[in-house]
Amino acid sequence: MTAPLPKPKRKNPILRTRLPTLPPGGRSRVALGLTAAAALGRFELQVCRDCSAVQYPPREACHVCLSDRLDWKLQDGVGELLATTVLHHSNDLFFRERLPWRLGMVRLDAGPTVVAHLHADIAPGAARVRVDARLDKSGQAVLIALPGQETANMADDRQLREMTCDPKFRKVLVTDGKTAVGQALVKALAKAGADLIWVGNAEPWKKFPGAEEIAALPPVSLLSLDLTDSRSVTELAGEIGGKVDIVINNAEYHRTFGIAARRGVDAARGEMDVNYFGLLRLAQELGPALRARAADGQSSAAAWVNLLSVYALANFPPHGTFAASKAAAYSLAQCLRAEMRPAGVRVINVFPGPIDDEWNQLLPPPKLAPAALANAVVAALRDGVEDVFPGDVAQEWLARWRENPKGLERELSL
Ligand SMILES: [Zn+2]
Repeated sequence: MTAPLPKPKRKNPILRTRLPTLPPGGRSRVALGLTAAAALGRFELQVCRDCSAVQYPPREACHVCLSDRLDWKLQDGVGELLATTVLHHSNDLFFRERLPWRLGMVRLDAGPTVVAHLHADIAPGAARVRVDARLDKSGQAVLIALPGQETANMADDRQLREMTCDPKFRKVLVTDGKTAVGQALVKALAKAGADLIWVGNAEPWKKFPGAEEIAALPPVSLLSLDLTDSRSVTELAGEIGGKVDIVINNAEYHRTFGIAARRGVDAARGEMDVNYFGLLRLAQELGPALRARAADGQSSAAAWVNLLSVYALANFPPHGTFAASKAAAYSLAQCLRAEMRPAGVRVINVFPGPIDDEWNQLLPPPKLAPAALANAVVAALRDGVEDVFPGDVAQEWLARWRENPKGLERELSL
């Protein structure tokens, strides 16, 4: 059984910070299909449309009938463990620093035999296991064999933890504690075992509802943070930049207008100032510090979470300018992801549908409860995925957007 993760000791400031290294990240264009699915938390393999053979590794033509009509399909990953081995030597710098490393060979019930990283709770010898696709530190999909049944402290496995951003014992910044979503995030992170949670408040001189409840949680520490003020963000970076492991940027400005319903650009400018420039200011100040600490021991810097909106994919005219600011933030978040990837820091984009808050009062249900959104963020950190679409509305939009982006645009603008 996996031993529970010990609480990390205070870092000796004289010891050098280990520089981030990455596992091999090269993939063929077709193999990126595996990564695209893993980024959404799915294990997909190609299935031949003509003879139904399941393919692995990913390829251009079916290994049975040479058909090129291969479709990515969700797999349950269940299979039989055939063999295991433990690496004690590697020419690859990433693995050399993490030896010993367990690998296994698994024959999937769906057909192919795969080589996979092996969770420590799988005993050597024949066993039923479940193979899952996870993103590794280089942001590419790799396969890991997990025990068939959930085991105690399963998430604490040393090899699995290299593929996840579990908040347990990590130091987290939540940029806005005033909103219902911010407070739900703080509670969910405290429950998940975060070591310290800094919670931003743009107006520290004003009491806000719920402040006392979250401030009473042991890991919580309130601080002043206004994302529209460059000096405030710089001061924050000076205070906690060298310590924060996970940034959750949930601060947002939301008004319900399209173009014709309101004169002037003040509301739209306000939305851009928080939703887009706020992210930019934060990323400029905290990004370098996170990158530098990405391999810093057991509780290294691990992830950056952006609260976007499913409106970032296609404009929802009744919330037109808000949607535009989220689309801008989405594009910037892709840039941030590319810049964080060389250090192995995961950028997670969250695309909720309408949240049950004051700006969506006029929308009919279903609306996403703040607690459900917070739980989805914690789950995304634990699974180490890149893109999350929490709730029924977001899932439906995602499905329609993947199938026919123009169709979704027209449907929303009716
Ligand atoms: Zn075939």
